[in-house]
Amino acid sequence: IGFVSQADPEVGSAMQDELARQRRNLELIASENIVSPAVMAAMGSVLTNKYAEGYPGKRYYGGCQYVDVVEEIARQRACKLFGAEHANVQPHSGAQANTAVYFALLKPGDTVMGMNLAEGGHLTHGSPVNISGTYFNFVPYGVDPVTGRIDYDKLIEQAKQVKPKMIVGGASAYPRTIDFKKFREAADACGALLMIDMAHIAGLVAAGLHPNPVEYADIVTTTTHKTLRGPRGGMILCKEEYAKAIDKAIFPGTQGGPLMHVIAGKAVCLGEALKPEFKDYGKKIIENAQALAKGLLSRNVKLVSGGTDNHLMLVDLTGLELTGKELEARLDSIRITANKNTVPGEQRSPFKTSGLRLGTPAVTTRGMQPEDMDIIAACIADTIHDFEGTKDASLAKVEALCKKYPLYE
Ligand code: PLP
Repeated sequence: IGFVSQADPEVGSAMQDELARQRRNLELIASENIVSPAVMAAMGSVLTNKYAEGYPGKRYYGGCQYVDVVEEIARQRACKLFGAEHANVQPHSGAQANTAVYFALLKPGDTVMGMNLAEGGHLTHGSPVNISGTYFNFVPYGVDPVTGRIDYDKLIEQAKQVKPKMIVGGASAYPRTIDFKKFREAADACGALLMIDMAHIAGLVAAGLHPNPVEYADIVTTTTHKTLRGPRGGMILCKEEYAKAIDKAIFPGTQGGPLMHVIAGKAVCLGEALKPEFKDYGKKIIENAQALAKGLLSRNVKLVSGGTDNHLMLVDLTGLELTGKELEARLDSIRITANKNTVPGEQRSPFKTSGLRLGTPAVTTRGMQPEDMDIIAACIADTIHDFEGTKDASLAKVEALCKKYPLYE
């Protein structure tokens, strides 16, 4: 930031402000994390200067011998970490990865099943405002309104009736372990391809703490910046038989030159995830999520599905006057960052919502422990039940936690 501030004080000052915000706030957005200095340095490096359309050994530009090494390391580490036959590390984002898979394996108008956005799915799983829902005939599936969990028998029955060409599994706001074997059964019941988007849980899969979709799916997509704790970007893992089609769908199908500095960041992050310490990190994410859930439940805060198996949970405000939007704003004022979210059977608009999504990847990276989660749970519960009466005390608790666990120092 020092370099930027010297050359461009306007941008540098906003960057300083953002660093200060990250230091003084508790980051509970389930899809965010805090990268290592090595991942950060890879992204802010000379690799950003290089054009490298194509793939290692088959580029459309000269001078690619060193970026080839970097991309090859990233590909090999991705395959090793997840047990995949082939990896494409070029997608600029999770959305790009998903769009490329559809482009590779579907024709416009094909029928696909994807999880409903309002019940935990992602925009790219068939939302009408996304290219996926515009170009393909997505039929949504959801969760059981009582349990808040995917009803796999129902999913299999629906697949038999709908006969999709592809089933997309994976979610952005689902607090429970996903049974990929059941998804495979659903796909096999109708001869569909199975794509699993493991963006949220990739770090837990890497740590061996969540079933690995690579064992069941034809194609697995992910982002690299959530629980996996890498640079902002995407990745596709697949069986060898789809490798050519997937590579073609990324370049030249939907992207131009790869972001080699980001691919270097991915390589570094995958190296970190292959180390034994990463398993401990994954375990701590889940321990912290469970401590946070327990602390909320014991203070009369309802959670969708009654708890969590992974890194996230959904506070359910159904029946209260308080909306997700208002709770997000209240928490922001005590320096807890989270996001409003729809809940299964949502009655309010997506701009207001009856839910709030919370996740522990970032606070776990900061070093926080289960006992700290109980303090955070108390702050959140107090903010829900008696905001005016507790906000000063909550703010003091948040300040103390941020001071105890410094960031980038
Ligand atoms: N897939 C899932 C399940 C996600 O949760 C997200 C992002 O939140 C994406 C894909 C899209 O990732 P990106 O924002 O990198 O396009």
